[in-house]
Amino acid sequence: MSPSTVQGYAALSAGQLLEPFSYEAPELREHQVRVDVTHCGVCHTDIHAVDGDYGVFVFPIVPGHEIVGRVVETGAAVTGLQLGDRVGIGWQGRCCGRCEWCRAGKEHLCLQIADCGTWTPYGGFSSSVVVDDGFAYPLPADMPAEAAAVIMCAGIAVYPPLRKYSAPGSRVGVVGIGGLGHLALQFAKALGCEVTALSSSPAKEEEARAFGADHFLRTTDRAAMEDHEFGFDVLVCTAPAGNDWADLVMVLNKDGRLVLPAFAPLDIPLFGDRVSGPMVDFVVHQLSITGSFLGSRADMREMLAFAQERGITPQVELMPMSQVNEAMLRVRQNEARYRVVLVNE
Ligand SMILES: [Zn+2]
Ligand SMILES: [Zn+2]
Repeated sequence: MSPSTVQGYAALSAGQLLEPFSYEAPELREHQVRVDVTHCGVCHTDIHAVDGDYGVFVFPIVPGHEIVGRVVETGAAVTGLQLGDRVGIGWQGRCCGRCEWCRAGKEHLCLQIADCGTWTPYGGFSSSVVVDDGFAYPLPADMPAEAAAVIMCAGIAVYPPLRKYSAPGSRVGVVGIGGLGHLALQFAKALGCEVTALSSSPAKEEEARAFGADHFLRTTDRAAMEDHEFGFDVLVCTAPAGNDWADLVMVLNKDGRLVLPAFAPLDIPLFGDRVSGPMVDFVVHQLSITGSFLGSRADMREMLAFAQERGITPQVELMPMSQVNEAMLRVRQNEARYRVVLVNE
């Protein structure tokens, strides 16, 4: 096999299983780096992409955007990275660099964001990827690769909103104890918050406490939920499906904030269908809903340093890259505990 060929796994059309796929390695532009992939996490976003849910993809698509690997080639203008550097790469692999958001250092809000994915044209379920040098982050030397891979996406989904909207002592609730939730518990605890895990599954309590939860609240226990009226300054909703949204509004403190770091179903009856329902609470209690999407490059660097310093440890299942379809099925069926990372042999 020619070294100029990239070996990956692609969905050839929407909803298909991935199959082996090779393509010619692209020439580097002056600010790009080529990274040989050693590890790549599997994210629900990959599944949405393969299923064609976002409607912006040209197939075949090679998914994969929680990448750890080594720099093997640098463009002519790259100065901050050396051959052999171990780097992490998340969903965003470039930015336009010209719009008001890029100029303000909020590259994740770039006006061209739809074209900025690491998986455009082809992502990390493969032997190598190409990204702009500013989006390949040098990793702390002793951070395990599989931990870094997960932190690049599941971590950056929850760290910036916790950092922005909580303070030491804030009462933070994490709804859903999965890939994002188990990291949100750890980050919130490390930030000094009083942390509650909210889940419909009592089986998650023991592990939630091990991840840092001070309390556990079963969302299907109506009486317990009522006991927590005004109980949370910040709710990070990492499991958007199947929630009773009126209950989540009920347990938000006045001036509280509901953070949505993951795509939710489109039919959230958040305001109910009654004039006297959660809509009134939203106004009277001065509540906010905040989406949270990735983070800036500064957020990424800060998060990596914080995760290393505070020992944030994703719980990961390792699988060989060749079992990508089995791995995606585990994620699709919510069986991963708590994240699957593919390893290139
Ligand atoms: Zn992701
Ligand atoms: Zn931009």
